[in-house]
Amino acid sequence: MFTVPALEYEYDALEDAISAEIMELHHNKHHQTYVDKLNQALKSHSELQTKPIEELLRHLEDVPEDIRTAVRNNGGGHYNHSLFWRWMSPQGGGQPEGELLQAINDRYGSFDAFVETFNEKALGLFGSGWVWLQPNLDIITTANQDSPLSQGLPEALLGLDVWEHAYYLDYKNHRDEYVKNWWRVVNWPVVQERYEHLRG
Ligand code: MN
Repeated sequence: MFTVPALEYEYDALEDAISAEIMELHHNKHHQTYVDKLNQALKSHSELQTKPIEELLRHLEDVPEDIRTAVRNNGGGHYNHSLFWRWMSPQGGGQPEGELLQAINDRYGSFDAFVETFNEKALGLFGSGWVWLQPNLDIITTANQDSPLSQGLPEALLGLDVWEHAYYLDYKNHRDEYVKNWWRVVNWPVVQERYEHLRG
């Protein structure tokens, strides 16, 4: 059975960018619902229950058709949010360091230009979805709860949830303000660690 991972900080720890009210709803209700529905879908397919979520999402074509959409959406939701919580920290913000910063500067000209490009992608994404920074430093978007994994791509270094449930209570329709403030809580040490492991 899949479970929602505990946060490594309190619900009110990210209030520079995201209120405790949103964090609690998002983690305790939205993420929990993805996990409950994923477990429900896998109930009749015990052979899939022990597979890592990454493997299920990488090989959706191997998931039986009657539960494929449920696994794609709810398994995707579980995977994406499990990472999202770790990509934020009350000690977050600022810039990455070392080789990751150098690579970002080489690719985008500067850290600020990188942030601007990422934000444009977030604002340009129609409807619900995610923005991802890939190990090759491409910035891509996916709809709904899809992730780079289900597109045959490597796991992301960093991702941003731009579903309305992630910001609407705080920012109403101002996705741009949410996206701008989110950088204040980005957990760069985790992103750097992923860069070291995931860049091929
Ligand atoms: Mn979400």
